[in-house]
Amino acid sequence: MRQKEKYKDVWPILEKAGEKPKGWPGWANNKKFSVVLTHDVETQSGHDKCIRLMKLEKNLGFCSSFNFVPERYNVSESLRNELTLNGFEVGVHGLNHDGKLFSNENIFRKRAKKINRYIKEWNSVGFRAPAMHHNLEWIKQLEVKYDLSTFDTDPFEPQSDGVNTIFPFWVADNGNGNGYWELPYTLVQDFTLLVLLREDIDIWKEKVDWIVKKGGMVLVNVHPDYVNFSENKNGLEEFSKSRYVDLLTYVESKYEGEYWNPLPKELAAYLENRFPKNGAIN
Ligand SMILES: [Zn+2]
Repeated sequence: MRQKEKYKDVWPILEKAGEKPKGWPGWANNKKFSVVLTHDVETQSGHDKCIRLMKLEKNLGFCSSFNFVPERYNVSESLRNELTLNGFEVGVHGLNHDGKLFSNENIFRKRAKKINRYIKEWNSVGFRAPAMHHNLEWIKQLEVKYDLSTFDTDPFEPQSDGVNTIFPFWVADNGNGNGYWELPYTLVQDFTLLVLLREDIDIWKEKVDWIVKKGGMVLVNVHPDYVNFSENKNGLEEFSKSRYVDLLTYVESKYEGEYWNPLPKELAAYLENRFPKNGAIN
């Protein structure tokens, strides 16, 4: 709470992150802003809650992507299929989630080969690193169309350097690897807001309203692991599913018809021929 006061000029809103980038093409179908829903699945328990979360979103008219850790728990093929058959997306979340993926380039290089195998096997085109660790140069070793390992502004993250924009940007291919679209998250993480700070979702709503004004991207990461789907009291690291329902209902009722809700892979494909790849990182 002390930190919250200290960071009030940069979090949850960093004013300069709202500037439209040069050459920005606007959102599909002339929508005012976009809503991109993503989920990192941390453990087996989160894995086993994915279908409930998918159904919750589907009932409210939304779609999302689920990022799984290939070598930490058993990622069921039938679950991946069910998600994609329902119009949802599957991405890769690190390799084994031990916090060491970015400890040096050698480790990263070795693991990138394995990660690329899962990307292929799962028909995925997107990646997010555990703990939002990021080295945008190294990530070029991954065969992806987009990466989700950054954020506009978030001093509460372990590697807290934000990319200072609520818009996607291109990370250029420099001959040593692949270029890709970077899609930073722009709403504070569920764990920080609802488990650590034990706040209600006013901070989410306030940020959504600001992003709408700027015509930017609402990108949120909600972990199924922390969602309590039962009527029982929340566990230590849980919040009620109604918090997330409140967020989606807020967007849907206040901004009906004004937003585009693509899968991250659809957003990357949309940008591909429309947004100049000048590699501008703010
Ligand atoms: Zn994670």
